[in-house]
Amino acid sequence: MVTSATTPTTVAVATATFDLRAAIASIPDPEVPVITIEDLGILCEVVVDEQARTVNVLITPTYSGCPAMDAIRQHIEHVARRRGYTASVQTRLSPAWTTDLMSATGRDKLREFGIAPPGQRSDQGSDVVRYPVGVSLTIRRVTCPLCGSVDTQEISRFGSTACKALRRCNECREPFDEFKSI
Ligand SMILES: [Zn+2]
Repeated sequence: MVTSATTPTTVAVATATFDLRAAIASIPDPEVPVITIEDLGILCEVVVDEQARTVNVLITPTYSGCPAMDAIRQHIEHVARRRGYTASVQTRLSPAWTTDLMSATGRDKLREFGIAPPGQRSDQGSDVVRYPVGVSLTIRRVTCPLCGSVDTQEISRFGSTACKALRRCNECREPFDEFKSI
């Protein structure tokens, strides 16, 4: 008994869709190539039409006017073309992307690469200390990705790219990039 869902053609189509989706999801972020656009949380949706050989991709821009978005769009179109699909890349502006959308895997990869991951804006954890309502002051404690010390200071608001700030660890004395949380 073979149902329509398990015919070789259907399986092949499902595999092709899966491969294309995986290929698009694994596109590296142009500014921080250790993490993928999926890790970064900017890949919202991938809809493949096997019959039409098209793929509709929805991405949400990170920092406004980030030139990386053009590079990402071109990379998606290239990946699709190599597999015989025509890609249509749409940009979603709302709800806006925040660093909270970055996956745990993405944060781990950043840390391994020596970049402090962004603090969670929405949690009350150790990275951000929030004061009672009405007081907007927050003390950000950024952990050194190299030695784990929280005794770090900002050297420059802008590191190697606009998305990152440059900090130095007072413990191990090493400078490091911080992926700014927004
Ligand atoms: Zn350190």
